[in-house]
Amino acid sequence: VEAQLRQSQKMEAIGQLTGGVAHDFNNMLAVIIGNLSLLVRRWRPQEGKAVQYIENALAGARRAETLTYRLLAFSRQQPLVPHVIDCNKLVGGMNDLLRRTIGENIQVETVLGAGNWRTRTDPAQLESAILNLAVNARDAMLEGGKLTIETANAFLDETYTRPLDDVPPGQYVLISVTDNGTGMPPEVLARAFDPFFTTKAVDKGTGLGLSQVYGFVKQSGGHIRIYSELSHGTAIKIYLPRTVEPESAPSPLMPRTEEIPL
Ligand code: ADP
Repeated sequence: VEAQLRQSQKMEAIGQLTGGVAHDFNNMLAVIIGNLSLLVRRWRPQEGKAVQYIENALAGARRAETLTYRLLAFSRQQPLVPHVIDCNKLVGGMNDLLRRTIGENIQVETVLGAGNWRTRTDPAQLESAILNLAVNARDAMLEGGKLTIETANAFLDETYTRPLDDVPPGQYVLISVTDNGTGMPPEVLARAFDPFFTTKAVDKGTGLGLSQVYGFVKQSGGHIRIYSELSHGTAIKIYLPRTVEPESAPSPLMPRTEEIPL
């Protein structure tokens, strides 16, 4: 419990720092991107590579914008558009997207729990979080493997389930993303949520995937846990608070997350 407290204090501190920086950068990038876009549109010299240079600069600025966006997510300052959604529908509706993202040599299995507990969250962000986890799972299973996405209703009462994941008692919708890939050594596990912590090559990972997921889950009032065993695999569990309110939007019709480069 003490380790968990220390961990959450650390995340809080990094979150405040990065959130402030990301917020300012976002504003500056908006100025840069706005002006570069105007240039590209208005200034079309017949010869020379000028337009190409501007477009390169614009592409760089857009990548930077994506990074600051993910940092804002980590520091729980991203604008959420909440809806009451049915998690089974959302997860079930991601099948095609997942298969396309994950590739041929990984088996994708979706196990939808009985019942349809609902949660209030931003469905596009939840899709994006699940996609982030799936991409990490893919990267951990380069030789192939199996990705399982499971939904369940979790009623955690004081007496028996609390020790399970050390999540505060309550009623939750549980979404687990499990792979049988490389797993993480303890020193990676300890830092996995840290922004910019990555073990991947510079052009492969930004270290912002799990940070973004962490911030999003917290901002939704939920909890996230990682279980990982070296050479066996990794399970990530997301607990989102259950609501009894009626569904407020058809969940799979949200804007597709493909637009957010990972
Ligand atoms: P990135 O994927 O860009 O490296 P993340 O924040 O998503 O950033 O992940 C941080 C690190 O955690 C990864 O570099 C990897 O070492 C480890 N990791 C995350 N997910 C998994 C997984 N499913 N299996 C093994 N290691 C993982």
